[in-house]
Amino acid sequence: MMRRTLLKVLGAAGLTGLAADALPQRSGAKGPAAAEELQKNWKQFLAEGVAVSSPDEKLTLSKGEWRRRLSPAAYDVLREEGTERPGTSPLNAEKRPGVFVCAGCDLPLFTSAMKYESGTGWPSFFTTIPGAFGTRRDFKLLLPRTEYHCARCGGHHGHVFADGPPPTGQRWCNNGVALRFIPKAGNPV
Ligand SMILES: [Zn+2]
Repeated sequence: MMRRTLLKVLGAAGLTGLAADALPQRSGAKGPAAAEELQKNWKQFLAEGVAVSSPDEKLTLSKGEWRRRLSPAAYDVLREEGTERPGTSPLNAEKRPGVFVCAGCDLPLFTSAMKYESGTGWPSFFTTIPGAFGTRRDFKLLLPRTEYHCARCGGHHGHVFADGPPPTGQRWCNNGVALRFIPKAGNPV
């Protein structure tokens, strides 16, 4: 039963049909261990020769510098905690193996194996790369919800909810415009 659930999750994340040697072996990983393994082995989804930043090298810029660096849509989400219209991000349909990094500072945040189709119209993930985010309570909709932001540049990415799929039950609901996808093979988008 657990294995079937895991396969369902992996299938939803678009991992079915990939070359077995291209990705870490997950056979035998069940329940929370499956998520831990995905977190531990995230670098196996990184394209060769790609240099990525670390959460410890903080990036602090002025508002003007951020405006020059980001598109208006990315600025609105990352620096003003805006929300993109659901269903508008091309990353909703992204199913190739690879790594999602912060559009503000290139910090790796999620792998393709952590993504699933939530049906919300925003890219959704059931876990994250370790250390990628900080969180805080947010009362914008009166009911408390948990806002999360990039650990390196502080950019707002989305909110995390407790109605996600196994193995974690988490739904990291991310604005697509705040992400950049680096496929393991092929050209970045
Ligand atoms: Zn960032």
